[in-house]
Amino acid sequence: MRNNSQVRSLTFLLLIFDFPTPDSPTLPTNILNLCVLCTVIGQQSSVNFLMNQRELFLKHVAQTSTTPLALEIVKAEGCKLYDTAGKEYIDLIGGISVANTGHRHPEVIAAIQQQLEAYLHIMVYGEFVEAPQVQYAKLLTDNLPASLNSVYFTNSGAEAVEGAMKLAKRVTNRTQIVSFNNSYHGSTQGALSIIGDEYWRNAFRPLLPDVLHLEYNSFDSLGFINENTACVIAETVQAEAGVKPPSKEWMQALRKKCTATGTLLILDEIQTGFGRTGTLWGFQHFDLVPDVILLGKALGGGMPLGAFIADKNLMDTFTDNPVLGHITTFGGHPVSCAAGMAAMKVLLADEQAIIKSVAAKQKLFLSLLVHPKIKAIHSFGLWIAIEFDSFETNKKVIDKCIAAGVLTDWFLFAANCLRISPPLTILDDEIKVACAVILSCCDS
Ligand code: PLP
Repeated sequence: MRNNSQVRSLTFLLLIFDFPTPDSPTLPTNILNLCVLCTVIGQQSSVNFLMNQRELFLKHVAQTSTTPLALEIVKAEGCKLYDTAGKEYIDLIGGISVANTGHRHPEVIAAIQQQLEAYLHIMVYGEFVEAPQVQYAKLLTDNLPASLNSVYFTNSGAEAVEGAMKLAKRVTNRTQIVSFNNSYHGSTQGALSIIGDEYWRNAFRPLLPDVLHLEYNSFDSLGFINENTACVIAETVQAEAGVKPPSKEWMQALRKKCTATGTLLILDEIQTGFGRTGTLWGFQHFDLVPDVILLGKALGGGMPLGAFIADKNLMDTFTDNPVLGHITTFGGHPVSCAAGMAAMKVLLADEQAIIKSVAAKQKLFLSLLVHPKIKAIHSFGLWIAIEFDSFETNKKVIDKCIAAGVLTDWFLFAANCLRISPPLTILDDEIKVACAVILSCCDS
């Protein structure tokens, strides 16, 4: 539909045009004029169409901030994004730790296409034997410690968090949930209850009762975990705090405390999973095995998918009293599972060559990112937070980077830190270009 101003200008132009009549047969001139008119309107329409996409986005797509990036991306490939004007961006965000194998990896696209030929959604989760779910669950559990052998697929990371909290209550018959300050676990009410920042929680109270927020990486915190605690939920490395790993000693003491008190240790690997830290799973750095892991983001290879994974004995508590203790319609969608499995196979190929490249790429980034304006760098694998003196400085650098074709942003609980979590397939040349841009944006 044309908008009002287009209709008005069309009417006006039609009025001033000299249309042929039997008395005034000036057809050739008018046809020429009409051609010009159509071209003008055509050009106007396409300009309006482009403007309207943005206007429609702001008007009809629910907004989460008053200042969305609002880039209009028309294609994504590997480590690059392309906008409507054909401008190219090096993607240092990777959809927030999603595109670990790069955007639209050919193996992932092929797996999606193959699954499209077979079936999409056919039945609510857990009732039918769906090959993509079964095979992906097998691949995941083959690459996890023996006690993490049963996969519950969800649609998102937050839903994995929700399911795992329910599982902990069911398994332990306890209600208290321990989580940590500056942790992010999702935006649904249960996940929101355990995230570690009152600014984000406060407006939505009442939230889940019996939640204890403790200091991460603090030995004093461990004293609060006891026989009333159903589970401790911790990020293996705190992501939105600005890439903050705990000490190995603390993680192992946390594991011991959970074992001693019969508390489930749930590690949120939603950002640390799938090679981000230089090993397939983040917890491998700490020589321990959690009772439950939470997966999302890169799990779906670019499609929506989450999961919580535990021992079958624990997971079976969902089958009885009540039966259907946790259900979802779309969780583990066959196309998402096919895509995720293909992406994971890419990561595992050639003895995990992509994951093994993480350390060298991290080193290259760190060697290049030296500038007086950079106060500190926090990094764990191909995952870097560049710390500036304030959010204002960071925002200026981010805006300039985006204008110069390098896509980055800030962290939820570390607004003065610039995010680098690119596809693990990023090339050395792309790293060099991206770092040169960041440094020149720091300069100006
Ligand atoms: N856990 C962590 C560590 C996350 O970073 C996120 C999302 O950013 C979530 C959980 C929630 O995942 P989702 O946004 O898929 O619900």
